Amino acid sequence: MTAQLIDGKAIAQQVRESVAAEVAKRAAAGKQPPGLATVLVGDRVDSATYVASKQRACQELGMVSFHNHLPADATQEQVEELVRRLNADPQVNGILVQLPLPSHLDEEHVLSLINIEKDVDGFSPINIGRLAQKGREPLFVPCTPYGCIYLLEQAGVKIEGANAVVLGRSNIVGMPAALLLISRNATVTVCHSRTRDLPAVVRQADILIAAIGKMEMVRGDWIKPGAAVIDVGINSKPDATKKSGYRLVGDVNFEEAREVAGFITPVPGGVGPMTIAMLMKNTLRAAQIQDP
Ligand code: NDP
Repeated sequence: MTAQLIDGKAIAQQVRESVAAEVAKRAAAGKQPPGLATVLVGDRVDSATYVASKQRACQELGMVSFHNHLPADATQEQVEELVRRLNADPQVNGILVQLPLPSHLDEEHVLSLINIEKDVDGFSPINIGRLAQKGREPLFVPCTPYGCIYLLEQAGVKIEGANAVVLGRSNIVGMPAALLLISRNATVTVCHSRTRDLPAVVRQADILIAAIGKMEMVRGDWIKPGAAVIDVGINSKPDATKKSGYRLVGDVNFEEAREVAGFITPVPGGVGPMTIAMLMKNTLRAAQIQDP
């Protein structure tokens, strides 16, 4: 079997177009454009790149972005003061604190200060808590896991009743992905670095979400025939044929897995483009909540 490719780039583009159309409709009705405030603390190159792409996406979709950059040695008080100011700013509908914060800062407390109606990353304890509770709805769902579920739904994969295995239990990807799958009535197993006999667990999966950050660790013979495989991992693999000297690969060995799986996301071009598309969707939603 050769798996059907789930084209994250095309699906993300559709999400962006529908967000842009809704933003234009709101503008025509005289409403202010949705505003996203980004907060970057320090000078990590990867974080700065992610923030720049989020700002670019805002501009492309007719939204406004407000960038806030604090030095790497910013104090807890300075970061908290900034979040409070953004909470009070009516032009700001969504607040995104780029993670990870420098290690001297209390990330959990910073995230807890974000007004729940502006928590477009979905990481405030209230939004995550609601996601974990039956019958409660978070206002926002974390963007990467939201993107994973959206890809499954768009591909027509049946989540209800499926055996789903999530590799990884991080706050950002693995755990919220597992909670989302449970909320959609999958039976979920969450694996991590202490899981015994990972291949045997993965072989039970009708749906596999891999988010461990280990290059091509999931082999083809771990995959249940016909399974849907969502590969969140982004790893640099040395490749002398590339100008950069490397290429991006996922946590799943794509060439092997595509021969067994029913559906698979490529890396790049799978989950990656969905993260920013879902952030844009969340930012529009924040504007709709605050100014219906
Ligand atoms: P973390 O490092 O925070 O978490 C990794 C998780 O994988 C942990 O739960 C860890 O277990 C588990 N793990 C690590 N090694 C193994 C192993 N050998 N066997 C089983 N489990 C293991 O990573 P993130 O969740 O932040 O990211 C995961 C991947 O997704 C990365 O490649 C990252 O680059 C990518 N990513 C992609 C995004 C996108 O937009 N496409 C967005 C965010 C991340 P334990 O808890 O026991 O330590």
